[in-house]
Amino acid sequence: MHPDLEKMIALQGLDLEVRRLNDEMAELPKQVAALASDHAAAKKKLASILSDLTKEETLRRQQELDIKDHQQKIARLRKQMDVVTTTAQAAALEHEISFSEKEVSRLEDAELESMERTEGLETAKQTTEETIANLARRHADETTRTTEALDRNKALLAETNAKRAELRPQIGENSLLMYDRIAKSRGTALAEGVDHKCSACQMVVRPQPWNDLRDRSNHELMLTCESCGRLLYWDPARDAPQKKPAERQESIAASIVRATL
Ligand SMILES: [Zn+2]
Repeated sequence: MHPDLEKMIALQGLDLEVRRLNDEMAELPKQVAALASDHAAAKKKLASILSDLTKEETLRRQQELDIKDHQQKIARLRKQMDVVTTTAQAAALEHEISFSEKEVSRLEDAELESMERTEGLETAKQTTEETIANLARRHADETTRTTEALDRNKALLAETNAKRAELRPQIGENSLLMYDRIAKSRGTALAEGVDHKCSACQMVVRPQPWNDLRDRSNHELMLTCESCGRLLYWDPARDAPQKKPAERQESIAASIVRATL
């Protein structure tokens, strides 16, 4: 294996870690922002409910005043009935009394409907107040959690970048140029050869290059995938069945970081 290749495997591990940390740091504040937005919306809803409750109270006060007016009018008309002299006058008074009685009945029904609406609004008010309290708590918790996670990621990022800065000068200039060029266009510069295939693009590696890839004695050779152009490497630990692939990958990267720092 080309000596730069092992270092570049470690470098790619660090580069991917930098990317993961940056992606995570970009995502973290979104949850806080979403909770803040939900909290603001719930407070707006509560304000609207409180305004509706006030409107219903005002409406009922007016309805009660109107009912009192009609009742006073009915009492006054009944007194006048005692002194009327003609049936026509009596009929006119009866008509007015009947109208006011109907109005009282209509206003009382309307008042009941308003009270029902108030009941519904009171329930909604309670639910919304609970939601607001809940969201305020979650927002505070999430803010703390996010701040801690951001601090943790910042420290990890600084640590990882320091490792990169130490590792990069140890890689040959041409290898590093190639690494940077492929990583820029492909996202990653290296791909492991697994089962005669490039693990990044799944293209089959022909038998001769595959044999070259597995030839650990060749320290000059650097192979690229004919399809995606990534630098291929072969991990002999693949032939050691006692380890899982993920563990192997990490242990290789870790040992190389240790060896090169
Ligand atoms: Zn490929």
